[in-house]
Amino acid sequence: MKIAIIGGGLAGLTAAAYLSAQPNIEGTVFERSPQLGGRAFTYEKSGFTLNYGAHAVYGIDRHTLQHMEEDLNLKFQSKQVDKRKVVYAKHGRLTPAPLDFVNIMKTGVLTPMEKVRFVAEVAAVISHIHQLKHYRTLGEYLDKSNSAPDVKELWEHLVSSNFFITPEDARKVSGEVIAEYYHNLFLSSKPVNYILGSWATITDQLVHKIGENEKWDIAVKEPVETIVMEKGKFILNTKSREALEFDQVIFAMPVQQVCKMLENTPWKTQLDPYKDNTCTEVLVYDVGFSKVVARPFHYISDMDNKVFISDVSATDYTVVPVGGQLLQGIAYLNDDFTDEEEKKQYLEKKTQQMEALFDTYYPDWREHTAVKRVSKKAMVASVKNIYSNKLLPNKLPGVPFLFCGDGCEGKGELAERAFSSGRAAAQMLLNQRLETKALAL
Ligand SMILES: Cc1cc2nc3c(=O)[nH]c(=O)nc-3n(C[C@H](O)[C@H](O)[C@H](O)COP(=O)(O)OP(=O)(O)OC[C@H]3O[C@@H](n4cnc5c(N)ncnc54)[C@H](O)[C@@H]3O)c2cc1C
Repeated sequence: MKIAIIGGGLAGLTAAAYLSAQPNIEGTVFERSPQLGGRAFTYEKSGFTLNYGAHAVYGIDRHTLQHMEEDLNLKFQSKQVDKRKVVYAKHGRLTPAPLDFVNIMKTGVLTPMEKVRFVAEVAAVISHIHQLKHYRTLGEYLDKSNSAPDVKELWEHLVSSNFFITPEDARKVSGEVIAEYYHNLFLSSKPVNYILGSWATITDQLVHKIGENEKWDIAVKEPVETIVMEKGKFILNTKSREALEFDQVIFAMPVQQVCKMLENTPWKTQLDPYKDNTCTEVLVYDVGFSKVVARPFHYISDMDNKVFISDVSATDYTVVPVGGQLLQGIAYLNDDFTDEEEKKQYLEKKTQQMEALFDTYYPDWREHTAVKRVSKKAMVASVKNIYSNKLLPNKLPGVPFLFCGDGCEGKGELAERAFSSGRAAAQMLLNQRLETKALAL
């Protein structure tokens, strides 16, 4: 059996690593860029390790990576962000972020009565009895809830930071999605961890696994351009080769791009409900310092402007040269603009808010900056997980391909959905193969 996997990001490499471990399956991973990893691509700049997308792993002890570690014999280490060093800035005052019981007691964002109420809500989420799961959106739940405004703001802020979206969008996330997400996160003993050495620690091992099977190859700088079906086989044309024949195809690229590629094919209609999905974009502001600027926090979230700065190297010390420090600033973005000019001005304002946060909490940051990378529109999730969008299933009725990626259905958010859907797509393909074999007997 010959498989084509289109896309060499976390999802595509995961699916390929699982499939290449099976006998009698050969395959090719097609990647249009010169490098692998997609949005989790890691690169070096003046001794600093920069990720295109950050490598925080939420609830690692309950994460899909745990299964992959076991199934694929992956070896990696992770380190937990120090919860005592996570702070919120509200109206210019710093206070511990209420991430666990100790911090809830210490935080200034809730009054003593509100703390009692919030602890009760956390307990209900953990025991799966919170009413939130029955509401279409967080907004609808908050409108009906008699919680204090501070508790409501905290819910919006938590969802905003975990889903990388604005509070307005946080209100549009489905109650069921949020209840499930926090059920996992609140039960985790390791809520926020970094993979030491960045995503490259994982992607390098997946690539190595694929390379161990000589019947598999990875074709970089080779975008797939068209795909047709002839006599039960899939015929792919890439930028540099024509008429490549495969038995099965897994799409591992952003959903909107899949819809575009399949626009003039018989499968267009089934893909139509997914083509207008909106994505999650953020402004990213990475700065590498030549020396460590010690602060009493490792993560500071500005609740008023919805921007945060993460001291990445305080947790993952492998990403800096000796004595250096790596900070990553992120601003959540709106996507509702009347024209390009309005959008340009909004992004400019967000950049200024970001720099103002650095000015306030790292006053001499400009002097220490050895490396800087600013991306005004980085795609965090290819499908923003709000109720009006639709995640693509791994398999669609009437469509012969399989799909994976962070815009597909799967466990978790962000990179976890890329991993979990990549793993699920590989398992579905293996099950299909078993069923076909059984029928042939
Ligand atoms: C700023 C930022 C911060 C983030 N922070 C976190 C975080 O802290 N934690 C977390 O879990 N996640 C985070 N993420 C999200 C995470 O990076 C993504 O969810 C994940 O990398 C998506 O992987 P994917 O394989 O689904 O998609 P992609 O990485 O987009 O992979 C798709 C691949 O397909 C290729 N491709 C597209 N079209 C074609 C074609 N026609 N032919 C061949 N190849 C093609 C693309 O080049 C790409 O390599 C962050 C992302 C960003 C941008």
